[in-house]
Amino acid sequence: MTAVDPARAAVAMDDLLAVMTPADFEDIRAAWTVAAPAHLDQLDAAAAEALRAMRAYGNAHGVAERWTAVDGTPAWVRLGLLDTLAAWYAGRAATCRHIPDPRRPEPVFAAAWRPRLVACKACYPTLFRLGGDADWTCDGCGRVDRERGSGARVALGPFTFLFGICRGCRGDLPVPGVTGSSQTSREDRS
Ligand SMILES: [Zn+2]
Ligand SMILES: [Zn+2]
Repeated sequence: MTAVDPARAAVAMDDLLAVMTPADFEDIRAAWTVAAPAHLDQLDAAAAEALRAMRAYGNAHGVAERWTAVDGTPAWVRLGLLDTLAAWYAGRAATCRHIPDPRRPEPVFAAAWRPRLVACKACYPTLFRLGGDADWTCDGCGRVDRERGSGARVALGPFTFLFGICRGCRGDLPVPGVTGSSQTSREDRS
């Protein structure tokens, strides 16, 4: 296998996702159904578990889940997610001690403030814990927003990406306590 540059792969994937249609995704699924049905089943199960966890977070914080088009998520969130995802697939990401592997689908987590680190569901609360100002820093603009900033998360299949976001960068993304918005949900800060 030739060496992959995760940063370039992330940009390429972002461009690709922007132009793919639902029919394209169905075609890819159909190909996988033939080529690797067991893997696809595992991937679906892991994605369903990640979605249940996302819903639980949303319910706990009064934010409804919402499915968004790729461009409904800020570019810095998309590229951060895809960079770590590409690095992980290329074998160039650090992992928790359980060594999650893309060839064995399971719900995994990454965070904007720890690029190219992938953790399993047991390890991520510890590995991605922050304290003090870092806990309130927006990963988009670097602003520390103790009053209106919040943690958020977005999931792509079984891969959940955590980030901090200030009110300015949040735009019309959901505010904790307001129902009816996006796939992001407020992170538990306690
Ligand atoms: Zn782990
Ligand atoms: Zn910001």
